[in-house]
Amino acid sequence: MIIVLKAQTTKKDETAVLQEIRRLGYKPHVMRGVARTVIGAIGDERSNKSLESLIAWSQVESVTPVQKRFKLVSREAHPPDSNIDVRGTVIGGRKVQVMAGPCSVESEKQLMATAEAVAKAGATILRGGAFKPRTSPYEFQGLGEKGLKLLAKARRETGLPVITELLSEDHTELIAEYADILQIGARNAQNFQLLIAAAKTGKPVLLKRGLSMKIEEWLLAGEYVLANGNRNLLFCERGIRTFETYTRNTLDLGAVPIVKNQSHLPVVVDPSQGGGRADLVSAFCKGAVAMGADALLIEVHPNPKEALSDSAQQLSLEAFGRLMEDLKPITAAVGRE
Ligand code: PEP
Ligand code: MN
Repeated sequence: MIIVLKAQTTKKDETAVLQEIRRLGYKPHVMRGVARTVIGAIGDERSNKSLESLIAWSQVESVTPVQKRFKLVSREAHPPDSNIDVRGTVIGGRKVQVMAGPCSVESEKQLMATAEAVAKAGATILRGGAFKPRTSPYEFQGLGEKGLKLLAKARRETGLPVITELLSEDHTELIAEYADILQIGARNAQNFQLLIAAAKTGKPVLLKRGLSMKIEEWLLAGEYVLANGNRNLLFCERGIRTFETYTRNTLDLGAVPIVKNQSHLPVVVDPSQGGGRADLVSAFCKGAVAMGADALLIEVHPNPKEALSDSAQQLSLEAFGRLMEDLKPITAAVGRE
């Protein structure tokens, strides 16, 4: 931490600050300039007491951290890439995994048709929402446990592991019983009690980026999962809220290499929530793979026009099949499968 004292600080006031720094467990190094004094406080800011309270001292001008606030998710803590194993499907390795399926599980017929088609086209994980976070309480809220049972049936029939959203702490046990990956949605990305509950299940957790979350806040939210004993975390970029209205969200593909630099954990991109439009999904997927994404999370529906949620952004089964073909040269060009 770098502490800058105000000009004209007396020797007595400087000594008091130095004493406080030592009391909090740090070693102060004083640098006296012509006009001002700068103190470098040496010590681990993440395991010691915080020095931030010094800003309340009248003789202190600024307090600036030099260390990152996240620890376990950081690449410093774990330089090699982490792979997450989901029932034998490895996310973070050479193969770019594709998670595909409907926004919401709507019926047995809809889910089975989608699951079979996406498996055939090369998807390796099945997505489907059973408890849906809808903006309006009058919109389709999902089939709940019935949806989970259908996902389990689709898993039995196709062999694909399943990802579904954990919307509330109350559902933790129920979701963990059915899901192979617990999805934490954008709206809950900083619901820290929910993150802790998800972590404690020991199942892989996919953490979407919140609607207005800075990358550091997203990494710190992920830190809650690792700090609670679960190293199986995936970060998922799904677009953020900006001034742009052409798309539903602004997909921040720049976040992919940034998070991959800062963290050892895999990064997933959701082009469906990212743009909110089916016609953008293919380009967003290609860009995501080129930027280093480890997996894609794509909404697919047998009849998007009749979907009960997110109908504008879901791909038809045919469009998904074409997309999987179109991605092959891109994955090959970046040295992946
Ligand atoms: C979804 O995946 O259908 C969803 C609701 O995602 P998000 O939390 O990113 O909006
Ligand atoms: Mn959706």
